Parts: sequence; C-alpha cells; structure tokens
Amino acid sequence: MARTDITITVPGSKPGTSYEIKEASDGSWYCSCPAWKNQKLPAEWRECKHMTQAILAVVNLGNHVVGATEAAKRRTGAVAG
Ligand SMILES: [Zn+2]
Repeated sequence: MARTDITITVPGSKPGTSYEIKEASDGSWYCSCPAWKNQKLPAEWRECKHMTQAILAVVNLGNHVVGATEAAKRRTGAVAG
C-alpha cells in the first residue's frame, strides 16, 4: 500500500512566516525555506531547524520516521522505521 505524503507546517523565525516540511511518499524530506533549498548537498543530507522540529513532532506523535534525512536523524536521535 502506497504511503501518503505528510506535510507539517512549522513557524518561521520571523513573525508571520511559516514553512512547510514534507515527507514525500518516497521517503524524501523537503523544506520550503530558502536555507534548505540553497544547501548544495543532496536532499537526504540537507537539514534545517524546521526539519528538525518537524521530525521531532512526528516522533512525538509516535509515528515512524522512515525517510528522515541522515543529518536530521543524527541530530534528533530518531530511528528509521
Ligand atoms: Zn527549513
């Protein structure tokens, strides 16, 4: 059964801003913030504070973190399901 995309919205550092972190059905994670987009790394090695927040939120909800980026997993201690 295909997994569905998960989108988590987290507040940005500036008032009134927010960013969307998406875990795509293929397990890839994306953030809509410029800091993430501008990193010259493969997507699975990129991280930003929003992504860390989002992954922690998912972990706190008791869900598996299947495709969390390697960098974010190291930071959060999340274990891939
Ligand atoms: Zn971000």
